[in-house]
Amino acid sequence: ESDSGVDVTHDRVETTDGTEIEVAANVGRSAELQGAVDQGADGIGLYRTEFLFLDRESPPTEREQYETYVEALEAFPDGRVVVRTLDIGGDKQIPYLDLPEEENPFLGERGIRRSLGPDAELFETQLRALLRAAADAEGGTLSVMFPLVSTVEELDAALGRVDEVVETLESEGVTYAVPELGVMVETPGAVFMADEFAARVDFLSIGTNDLAQYVMAAARENEHVAHLHDPLHPPVLRAIERSVEAAHDNDAWIGMCGEMAGDPELTELLVGLGLDELSMSAVTIPEVKANVSATDQTHARDVAARVLGVDTRGDVTNIIREQ
Ligand code: PEP
Ligand code: MG
Repeated sequence: ESDSGVDVTHDRVETTDGTEIEVAANVGRSAELQGAVDQGADGIGLYRTEFLFLDRESPPTEREQYETYVEALEAFPDGRVVVRTLDIGGDKQIPYLDLPEEENPFLGERGIRRSLGPDAELFETQLRALLRAAADAEGGTLSVMFPLVSTVEELDAALGRVDEVVETLESEGVTYAVPELGVMVETPGAVFMADEFAARVDFLSIGTNDLAQYVMAAARENEHVAHLHDPLHPPVLRAIERSVEAAHDNDAWIGMCGEMAGDPELTELLVGLGLDELSMSAVTIPEVKANVSATDQTHARDVAARVLGVDTRGDVTNIIREQ
């Protein structure tokens, strides 16, 4: 039994009419892997690798990262492990990396912007470790995704770095495998370009913490605008709808790894919106899995359609409460 009193299941779950929904865990360190396994995670839907850089004085080496990624993959022999490349800046600071003092850090050099700029070397090291782990781990499927992308140029540049690392490993005679590649949808730019993104990668993953922040222009850490930083506002829901449609139109799968995905009250709505995967902190997995198993797709789609049809946050709440 889990903390919430719901039985843990290690089986994959599907809706009453047979649509499988992957339910995965968000982690940031090796120490969290066992907890995710124990709660019945199908895999890891978001490995926040910036945590590997914390509580130390220099970046982890290629070898250290390689071992960390192999360990994650081997914890889920039949699952998928989605590793997000380094996402620092904004709310994520690492003292020894000398991040610039910025007036608006959330609108500054963060996520992929740093990996394609000042942290290019760290990015290369990380990609090398990932591609090597993808080949050597016994088990799990590796997926790699890029954070805070807002233009096709950035995505193409990131994919280009992967190609360069492939060429280097090839020329060195080092064993590697190219993982599944994806991109986070967490800026309005990514939502508007989701079609073009999905045509270039295997999957999208919606980061509702940042997406709500940028769509609503309300900082995620500012209590004065907490009522606006909320993914149930119609503009954020419409951004999610648009992203799901873009993914599926391009034969890409789409998950959600922001806090919204782990809210058991929203499982039916998220299934109805068409998400293929939900990733969350491990504690809520048993409850969300139970909710997926109890969901009827037709009803869920109807709930999603009604939610998308109203104008206000208040009306959205009313529809969800009626269920
Ligand atoms: C998000 O922005 O929703 C997300 C999952 O990433 P993070 O919370 O690490 O920014
Ligand atoms: Mg984010």
